Amino acid sequence: MLKTSDMGFEGELGERLVDPSPVPSESEDLDYSLRPQTLDEYIGQDKVKDNMKVFIQAAKKRGEPLDHVLLYGPPGLGKTTLSGIIAHELGVNFRVTSGPAIEKPGDLAALLTNLNENDVLFIDEIHRMSRAIEEILYPAMEDFALDIIIGKGPSARSLRVDLNKFTLIGATTRAGQLTSPLRDRFGVIQRLELYSTDQLSEIIRRSAAILGIACDAKGAAEIAKRARGTPRIANRLLKRVRDFAEVMGNGKITGDIADIALNRLEIDSLGLDSLDKRMLDMMIKGYGGGPVGLETLASAIGEESVTLEDVCEPFLMQLGFIARTPRGRCATAPAYRHMGYAVPDAPAASESGQQSFFNDSDS
Ligand code: ADP
Repeated sequence: MLKTSDMGFEGELGERLVDPSPVPSESEDLDYSLRPQTLDEYIGQDKVKDNMKVFIQAAKKRGEPLDHVLLYGPPGLGKTTLSGIIAHELGVNFRVTSGPAIEKPGDLAALLTNLNENDVLFIDEIHRMSRAIEEILYPAMEDFALDIIIGKGPSARSLRVDLNKFTLIGATTRAGQLTSPLRDRFGVIQRLELYSTDQLSEIIRRSAAILGIACDAKGAAEIAKRARGTPRIANRLLKRVRDFAEVMGNGKITGDIADIALNRLEIDSLGLDSLDKRMLDMMIKGYGGGPVGLETLASAIGEESVTLEDVCEPFLMQLGFIARTPRGRCATAPAYRHMGYAVPDAPAASESGQQSFFNDSDS
């Protein structure tokens, strides 16, 4: 199967530069310095931030733990960062784990019994937790208690152990995969959105200042435009563009340097990389613009459908390049133009059920 890494679009360690997931080179320690520590430093996501400010203040006033919070949205948007900030603003400990890391019920029990009053327990990728583990979480979230079974067979007894009150913050890229009993136990459910170019520019300038990189407004804007609405990618591109600025210029990132560097890294003017382009190309050339199902598309280009759904699709939808219909995904007129194809006439398009996507003014 042909993977992204086979397409010649690789960073230093063979990773995809615009992959929103963390890569090994972004070690926690290195990355930590770029993570905002307070809500005021956290750029963008104003709606979520404003809501959380109220919930945090109310919880502090009552001296109670914050209600359990579920944060969802594409990777790299700041779910972990925001959770750390919430704990910091509440003035409590922040314990971090992830769904796949909790293998046995005992692992979760150990985590829960070690929490202090009102602490925040963060579970990343919470949709990947097993059912057996999830069931331990229910009484823990609802009654702050653990039900432990002692013994086996007819003599087995259930023992209830009280826990300190705590806040669970769950993060997921796929809220739809959460079981409803688990989802229902979160009092606060917030969706993080992709960032605007202006917000990403601000994040890049903040990161540049922390890392001691000279970067002017045009340089930051150029990187921001091509960072797929994702702070993690913005920070990664900033570091790569810095390398070009140091080798090709005097170390300062300007609009021109950023443009040259990002072209060399094969990230196009809108932030599309070879995987996005292969996806659009296949939709347009292989399936007449759609509608086409994600699974079909994924196997046609030799990628995992979760990658297309979690990584390519949210960004391509934000650009208005693809639209979801009940019958599958469709490429829109702007996508045809960006990929250098003539936009089909509306009647032909209507045969494939996508007429409305071609009715924009300049098509
Ligand atoms: P997620 O948990 O959603 O995958 P993270 O919280 O790990 O994302 O964020 C990825 C990186 O992006 C962090 O290292 C942080 O530096 C940066 N970041 C995320 N959100 C923001 C923000 N709102 N302001 C500034 N930097 C941010």
